Amino acid sequence: MDLLNLVDGRWIEGSGAALTDTNPARPGEVVARGRLAAPAEVTAAITAAAGAAPAWAATPHHARAAVLAEAARILDGNAEPWGRELSREEGKTLAEGVAEVRGAARILRFYAAESDRDSGEIYPSPRPGESIQVVRKPVGVAGIITPFNFPIAIPAWKIAPALTYGNTVVWKPSSLVPLLALRLAGALADAGLPAGVLNLVYGEGDTGTAIVDHPGVDAVSFTGSTAVGRAIIARCGELAKPVQTEMGGKNASIVLADADLDHAAAQVVAGAYNSTGQKCTATSRLIVHDGVADELLARVADRAAALRVGDPLEEGVQMGPLVSDAARDRVAAGVREAVGEGARPLAGAEPYTDADRAAGWFAPPTLLDLPGTGLGFWRRELFGPVVGAVRARDAAEAFGLANLSDHGLSAAVFTRDLGVALTAVNGLDVGVLHINSESAGTFPWVPFGGVKGSGHGPKEQGRAARDFYTHTVTVYLGPPA
Ligand code: NAP
Repeated sequence: MDLLNLVDGRWIEGSGAALTDTNPARPGEVVARGRLAAPAEVTAAITAAAGAAPAWAATPHHARAAVLAEAARILDGNAEPWGRELSREEGKTLAEGVAEVRGAARILRFYAAESDRDSGEIYPSPRPGESIQVVRKPVGVAGIITPFNFPIAIPAWKIAPALTYGNTVVWKPSSLVPLLALRLAGALADAGLPAGVLNLVYGEGDTGTAIVDHPGVDAVSFTGSTAVGRAIIARCGELAKPVQTEMGGKNASIVLADADLDHAAAQVVAGAYNSTGQKCTATSRLIVHDGVADELLARVADRAAALRVGDPLEEGVQMGPLVSDAARDRVAAGVREAVGEGARPLAGAEPYTDADRAAGWFAPPTLLDLPGTGLGFWRRELFGPVVGAVRARDAAEAFGLANLSDHGLSAAVFTRDLGVALTAVNGLDVGVLHINSESAGTFPWVPFGGVKGSGHGPKEQGRAARDFYTHTVTVYLGPPA
């Protein structure tokens, strides 16, 4: 499969360095090849997006929406083969890959339906005959930079609102997952998107920086690590450019004494190990009431140890590899360090030694019983299938421990007590809160994003996305005389 950049409606081979997309379960296997965009091609993409912006902004909302709806139909029709490609390049299981492609289609349909909604507000005026309108206009050219872990869903939830609200786009996907980027851009192009409205450029960090810096890019939406996100926020601050960043997480699941332990254990395992723990909302900290801690940890450890880990395309496999050798090494080093600081492994921890898994970027589902919250593990995102557990005397202490973090993306609380659940809503510093369900998971019609080091700027998804991809004009509409 050839990876081509999309610049001004033309599919071009980049003139930059070679790009090789490999299968993390079998690193010798090439999934796709291509070339990165050279700086001049990135500039051409931004120029094309700027050139296409006025006509796209003037295109009726329903015509823009029709393109998104048709692209959704194309995605749904290709969910099986493209979901398989997603698994091959990213490492999540086939079921997760197919579900993600379908999820991206659902996001496109949601934003297509936005064309039927109100697009502004009208206020009364104290002056006779005047009304005050608040109308929404596109921001212009959106620079979009996306991470590896949701190769099509995260790009869809940025690109779909950008397009539906009348913006044009220059998109740099993660260079680890270029094939699904090609699929999404291809679906939108085949659905009838005019030339220049969406431009896809393959590149690494320097390409992201070039997009952020370019004066032709009017706003930047980034999802990825907190370190890169903070650098982008700082640069956009200097340039006075609107910016939205969704960043790392260190998400806690809190299991209280009155919880249904079997349900809680199953949900903690899903939150921690689905997608190999490579979700920004994955559970990586577990806080358990003293009275049920031994029982709950035993159940989580049993379930973790029973997970079938292997090639994500194989029937029955429940967890695939990490995305890269660097990710595997980072996770292994993080576990070693935690154990060195007194963490007790209850499941996993030891690297695989069998030939198949040792050859790929696999890490075992790991549960660590932590001696306290002073370890580096408590604060640092490992972004892999590793959970560290501590105990708490009561809900108040548990919530305090959960807030002991530089991150604030999501949390899960397991309890039957409505009063305690309501305390969690007010007491936990997060942007997403699950009561009695795993910490991961989001629907496209509701806002998504974090607080503290996890998110900056307007939230994504749902109607919240409109706040980033439009600006308002307040019009005092008076009578002629
Ligand atoms: P990453 O290393 O920060 O990369 C994210 C994107 O930024 C990639 O396209 C990357 O390009 C690019 N990039 C790297 N350096 C850059 C720079 N200096 N300037 C501009 N762009 C730059 O993150 P990742 O490893 O792909 O994704 C995992 C991280 O994303 C985790 O921290 C996870 O929690 C977070 N995440 C957050 C959310 C959320 O909604 N809060 C959702 C998903 C993931 P290359 O990789 O191609 O070099």
